[in-house]
Formats: sequence, C-alpha cells, structure tokens
Amino acid sequence: MVGNWKMNGNLRENAVLLKAIVAGWHGQRNADVVICPPFPYLAHAATVLSGLDIMIGAQTVSEYEKGAYTGEVSAEMLADLNCKFVIIGHNERRRMQRESDLQVAEKFVQAQQAGLIPILCVGESLEDREKGMHLQTISRQLDAVFDLVDKSMFSNAVLAYEPVWAVGTGKTATPSQAEEVHKYMRSQLDEIGEDVRILYGGSVKAHNAEQLFALSDIDGALLGGASLDADEFLAICKAA
Ligand code: PGA
Repeated sequence: MVGNWKMNGNLRENAVLLKAIVAGWHGQRNADVVICPPFPYLAHAATVLSGLDIMIGAQTVSEYEKGAYTGEVSAEMLADLNCKFVIIGHNERRRMQRESDLQVAEKFVQAQQAGLIPILCVGESLEDREKGMHLQTISRQLDAVFDLVDKSMFSNAVLAYEPVWAVGTGKTATPSQAEEVHKYMRSQLDEIGEDVRILYGGSVKAHNAEQLFALSDIDGALLGGASLDADEFLAICKAA
C-alpha cells in the first residue's frame, strides 16, 4: 500500500496526519505500507513513523547520479534519508514535467543502483483508452525500461497501473479493465511476472478498495487523495 501525498501538507498539517496514523495503527502486517511525502518532509515523516512498520518513499528522483543539476535530488540522497522506495514515472510528472519514457527508465536505474525500490507507474490516457490503444501505451512505457535493465531486475521493483483518466477524477477502472492490464503487465515480465507486485492506482477509496483487492492480479494500491485522510488510509490498509 503506497500513499502518495503529492504536493500537499506542511509541517503542522503533516504532524496532525501522522499523529492520527500512528494512533490508529495496529500493525497492518498483512500489507507492506509506504508513505511518500514531499522531499522537505521525508526526514520528519521518517522520524515520526520510526517505531511503526511503515516505510518511507519519495515521489520522484533525478535520473542523474550527482553533479551540476540544480534542484534535483539524487537516489543516494534519498537512501541517506532512510527512503526505501521511490515513485517513478507518475503520470503527473510524465505530463506536467514532460518526463520522457527514457528519463523514467534512467530514474529506475538510478533508484536501483542506490538500493531503493522503484515503484514504476504506467498508464494510458483517456484518448488511448477510447481508441483501444491502452496496451500499446503500457507496452511502450515498459519497453523503455526493458531497454536499459534486464527483466530480472523487476524482482526488486513494484509496478503500478494508473490509468491517467482515473487519477484524481473519482473514476476507477472497472475490475475487468484493471485485471486485463495487470495480466498483460505480468505477461511482459516473462517468468518473473507472477512474483512482481503490481499495484492499481486511480481514485482508490475505502469504499472500493475491497473489490479491487479481491482481484487476483491486484497486489495493492497507490493512493493519492485517500492517503491524506488518516481514517480513509487506515481503512484501506486494513482492507488489504
Ligand atoms: P488518486 O491518486 O488516488 O487521488 O486518484 C492516485 C495517484 O496519483 O497515485
């Protein structure tokens, strides 16, 4: 279960949210739980959650190792802050920061080289879905990573299927739409496909989580909005 806070919160609001999560946490050991705050709050969240079995992740990382890249944050720096995971290729970054498939693949490599587990997001636009081209889009996004790393490297990665039209819109993919894509992604990973964790993301809430988690190819969720509400977040962790 991965909570992506996106560019929300501040020190005071985060303290309130984290306190509520700590208070309601009963060790959801049936799921691995990761919270991804904005960069400036990673250390604070890591400290507050240190006694709990909740891990910390970042929302993106530089595709470069180090050097004159003003404003960038390297994978090694994230590892230094006790991050275990990093979200790579979220559609908001692919679209708004114009991250290319190649840059996303390079970030994947950087993350793994620093010992972080990349959470690689893929997903089609509404236009691609309406044209019936969703699997082509996903295949293109995966192939860019397969070009740089051996498929076996995915045993140390998490995949997330996030249809662009479902993120932050209140629209969720139907179980059959999600299953089709998740199965397709497993098939692209050849023999390790069955062992790779594939999350679904896009308007997952407490009321629809159980139905999604009941599907055999959905191993968890990447949560945006729902991760900013402690009760909702904890209820979804419990449903896992
Ligand atoms: P959402 O966002 O749950 O608010 O739709 C999901 C995400 O962007 O990871």
